[in-house]
Amino acid sequence: MTGNAVVVGGGIGGLAAAIGLRRIGWTATVLERSCELGEIGAGMSQSPNALRALAELGVADAARAAGVPFPGIFNLRVPSGGHIARALPGTTGPLLGFHRADLHRVLLDAVPAGWVRTGAQVSAVRQDGDEVVVGWGAEELRADLAVAADGVHSTVRRLLWPEARDPRFWGNTVWRGIAHADGVDAAMTLGRGRYFLAMPVGRGRVYWALGARADRPGVRYDDELAEVRRRVQGWHDPIPRLLEATAPEAVLHHDITDLDPLSGYVRGRVVLLGDAAHAMHPDMAQGAAQSLEDAVVLAAALAESGDDIPAALARYDERRRPRTQTIVRQARAKGLGSTSGNAVGYHLRTTALRLVPSSRWPALAAKALAPVWDWTPPPLPR
Ligand SMILES: Cc1cc2nc3c(=O)[nH]c(=O)nc-3n(C[C@H](O)[C@H](O)[C@H](O)COP(=O)(O)OP(=O)(O)OC[C@H]3O[C@@H](n4cnc5c(N)ncnc54)[C@H](O)[C@@H]3O)c2cc1C
Repeated sequence: MTGNAVVVGGGIGGLAAAIGLRRIGWTATVLERSCELGEIGAGMSQSPNALRALAELGVADAARAAGVPFPGIFNLRVPSGGHIARALPGTTGPLLGFHRADLHRVLLDAVPAGWVRTGAQVSAVRQDGDEVVVGWGAEELRADLAVAADGVHSTVRRLLWPEARDPRFWGNTVWRGIAHADGVDAAMTLGRGRYFLAMPVGRGRVYWALGARADRPGVRYDDELAEVRRRVQGWHDPIPRLLEATAPEAVLHHDITDLDPLSGYVRGRVVLLGDAAHAMHPDMAQGAAQSLEDAVVLAAALAESGDDIPAALARYDERRRPRTQTIVRQARAKGLGSTSGNAVGYHLRTTALRLVPSSRWPALAAKALAPVWDWTPPPLPR
């Protein structure tokens, strides 16, 4: 069967869902509340599982052209500049670093012209027999399926999963920016209670992020860049250089929240995808990656199940919920560990990390990350 779907949200998850539906012969309308499509001025990395999902969606070449390869284990440093681990010379994979807007553009280019409607803030969703009716403003659309990819604060989840808890803040906050700088290697600097990440994302741009603890959510500063500088005062080069090369008004500051496990990702003909289903801490770099996996699995389940859409959605739920909820838990633990201010814990962690020779890191990391990175997508019909 081919059907038609409404996708709520035109972020990475929503666009990937639309591409997956297109691959199996469905049509879709993507409703995006913003008047202009795009992504925020920050970066992200994509791991092998995500790159396989992108390949199954047919956009691997475009993604590789837009991203910058870097090693899974890159330079780990301490604030004084000393190395805990060094990237091995000549290793350039298996991760790809992106400016978020570049990855979003790759996906948007693969969505048929005319499928995306901007300025459409969805405020109503209801079942009507075998159809789902999605409303925004004075307009509504009927479809065989609605895919809710409307992010961590999903309106659709709030409407149809009223029992779900709001996303939870566990005490982590993050600043992000894009600097224009050359000669910077991907590196993570581990301070006590905070970390600084730097990652080249192409065309002379370097994405940086500072993660730290916060007593409560919502604390903001008049000059966010000055606050970042204060928190990494005296840290090694190139950190001061990157902050110098960042436009103060472009610095982003967000509190991190994640979702408690939902008992299901499906209600009738409505399915949650991406952060709407399983928002997570960024520390495993898997939020968008999991939304790409979701998109492929949803399309494959629909293709496999013929006319039986409920059976397809049940299959999607069964395949996606355990994996994504496990990763949410792991990412939370990792996120809270990375910003722990405990002095003894910090000393033990950095000492233990230093004991591992750099040459052993790739194999150790590959083993530790295998359950996440080794995922292979179900094949979509050609
Ligand atoms: C600091 C940080 C670093 C990260 N790093 C990585 C990384 O390295 N790798 C990785 O894979 N992931 C990373 N992530 C996670 C990643 O950003 C998210 O998981 C991903 O963007 C989720 O995509 P999404 O499409 O599900 O949701 P979103 O990107 O939130 O998109 C939702 C879209 O829905 C729209 N929308 C919302 N409500 C409505 C409505 N009512 N009607 C219509 N449209 C609506 C929004 O405008 C938006 O365009 C990171 C996250 C953070 C915070």
